[in-house]
Amino acid sequence: MSEKIAVLGAGTMGQGIAQVAANKGYATSVYDVSADRARAAIDAIAVATDKLVQKSKLSEGDRNALLGRLSISDDVGKAVEGARVVIEAAPEDMGLKVALFEKVVAAAPKDALLGSNTSSLSLTELGTRIGEAHRTVGLHFFNPPPVMELLEIVRGLATSDETLTRAQELAAKLGKTSIIVRDTPGFATSRLGVILGAEAIRMLESGVASAVDIDRAMELGYRHPMGPLKLTDLVGLDVRLAILDHLHEEVGEQFRAPPLLRTMVRAGKLGKKSGEGFYIWKDGVPSVKS
Ligand code: NAD
Repeated sequence: MSEKIAVLGAGTMGQGIAQVAANKGYATSVYDVSADRARAAIDAIAVATDKLVQKSKLSEGDRNALLGRLSISDDVGKAVEGARVVIEAAPEDMGLKVALFEKVVAAAPKDALLGSNTSSLSLTELGTRIGEAHRTVGLHFFNPPPVMELLEIVRGLATSDETLTRAQELAAKLGKTSIIVRDTPGFATSRLGVILGAEAIRMLESGVASAVDIDRAMELGYRHPMGPLKLTDLVGLDVRLAILDHLHEEVGEQFRAPPLLRTMVRAGKLGKKSGEGFYIWKDGVPSVKS
């Protein structure tokens, strides 16, 4: 029997993390508060892996085996039953994550690794509030998880050495290169990533250049594979806003969210996942807004 990983939250990140885990041989159970989202995630993985087969990046047999290792649970308790590792990818809200992990703690094996994909929240606070600080750790994947090589492992104040070693071993098994970062607001990646994105939005707001040209500045001038506005669309404007609000409170003024970002979130313009952000998105491809 292969080891089990439970993925909680089947949105942008949970879907990709589940694909990575199943691809590397883990029995992967997927739970989402919305059963439709969980089903849509499995369907999207089927489509994504079909494309990999067409491009000869995955064999038909491996794809079928991958899909066969995925299951949906409509109950958190069932999803985490017997799991060696839990990876939570629910919305960026501490209260929500604590409530979800309280259910996990009641049902998962007592030695399961409790990982959160949070982009900015404190693992020390999460671990302490659920009474399992020694085995709580940040497992910060990047978007899209099947493609991005980094796993940022975040060590809470009371995360044990054993938990850290297990997280590093997990990263290697999932084919990721890991870095270890102390639990600080926004860690290493989000702290640097969101400040660039926020500044790009402020520049768009004040008419410095068009969205496309601001992105080109970083793509062609600094060799970033994707400009900061396109990346904000990919991440989700709501996700970026939640991170900025948290970092503004915890770190300081430099993280104040640009008004344009808040307005776009209020208008439901969340980027790729809603079809419109700083670009128009159709079938996963961005085009310039007129
Ligand atoms: P998302 O909005 O795409 O998906 C969140 C999913 O969680 C939704 O499907 C929602 O139905 C589900 N959900 C809501 N409440 C839940 C609950 N109580 N239990 C289980 N599922 C629940 O969000 P996302 O972009 O996938 O982000 C998830 C986490 O990953 C956040 O903490 C975010 O900060 C982090 N993250 C996001 C990115 C990114 O690029 N989007 C990158 C790295 C980390």
